[in-house]
Amino acid sequence: MLDLLIPSLSVRPLAGYGEKSPACFLVEFEGRRFLLDLGEEPATGRLPELSEAGHIDAVLISHGHADHVGGLRALDSIGNPPVFASAMVRALGDAPLRSARDLPVRGRIKIGGVEIETGRSGHAPGAVWIRVGGPAGVLYSGDFSREGTLYAFDAPLPARYLIVDASYGTYDEPLEPTVDMLARMASSGPLLLPTQPNGRGLEMAVHFDERNIPIALCDNHIAIARRVLKSHQGVLDDNAAERLSAAVAAAVDYTRVESSYGAMLAADGSAASGLSETLLATFLERRLPVIFTSTPAEKSAAGQAIASGYAHFARWNVHPRLRDLRWLIEIVQPEKILLAFLAESGIDKLRDNLPILPRGT
Ligand SMILES: [Zn+2]
Repeated sequence: MLDLLIPSLSVRPLAGYGEKSPACFLVEFEGRRFLLDLGEEPATGRLPELSEAGHIDAVLISHGHADHVGGLRALDSIGNPPVFASAMVRALGDAPLRSARDLPVRGRIKIGGVEIETGRSGHAPGAVWIRVGGPAGVLYSGDFSREGTLYAFDAPLPARYLIVDASYGTYDEPLEPTVDMLARMASSGPLLLPTQPNGRGLEMAVHFDERNIPIALCDNHIAIARRVLKSHQGVLDDNAAERLSAAVAAAVDYTRVESSYGAMLAADGSAASGLSETLLATFLERRLPVIFTSTPAEKSAAGQAIASGYAHFARWNVHPRLRDLRWLIEIVQPEKILLAFLAESGIDKLRDNLPILPRGT
């Protein structure tokens, strides 16, 4: 009989589980059905299993990266439910996001009688974690980072079910040594860092600028920095707006970095388009260092440059490390956990390193 007092809850990944695939989780709470994110695979355009979605009451967006919002182009196929996203995500997003309804970056709303709570996730401009249905519901971490320089982070809330960004598996290294290494490289010659302006790129600019290393920013980085600075209230960490403004003001022309030393931050992060695509060819030809800071797809230009030995990979943390996952589990105290965005083999290894994780979930 007690069961009757526990609100009904089910969670089903339509993508994002068992492999590094786009984010899309179907959560049903007390008869209301929500999609948490609707991403696409950036390299291939692959969409989640939307034929299994059924009726959807609302789509809740954690942040504006393609693997979390790219699938919104297929909104028609699930009956055009309302989409909710934070003001910053809407401002930086494409058409389907611009007309989305408001999801606060730190607050609560009700959708169909179900309580939706959010807090900032430290990962990208306007990025949030989302709790659906209060303590008896689901906490979805979105992508999150506790090492961010610019984007604020709020401690998440307890929930019965945790869907967590486990994309780094058991990786547990701090960001700082990587920053030091890249700063040393950039202080002895030009260094190309293909990167995502709507995320780590602006954080890198601040780190290098504060180490007195000349930085060059592509137009895409400057445009996004200006947008973020225009309405940063509640999104950026304390003093972060001043730090970002200083970095943007200090940015120099590419030719100056190219002919002496410094860091060139150019979109996109895998050098498949934008200025980084052009610069990659120049740098490889001149045997100048190129570092990719997010894991590239094997068949991408980045993957090939790395495989050939002319470019290298050094992770710039924007996702949780093992210690962050342990910390989050302590806070959320879930009965069940879904370790998202991680290959099957990595899931087993991670479980072995999370001793309090319940088995069979
Ligand atoms: Zn992301």
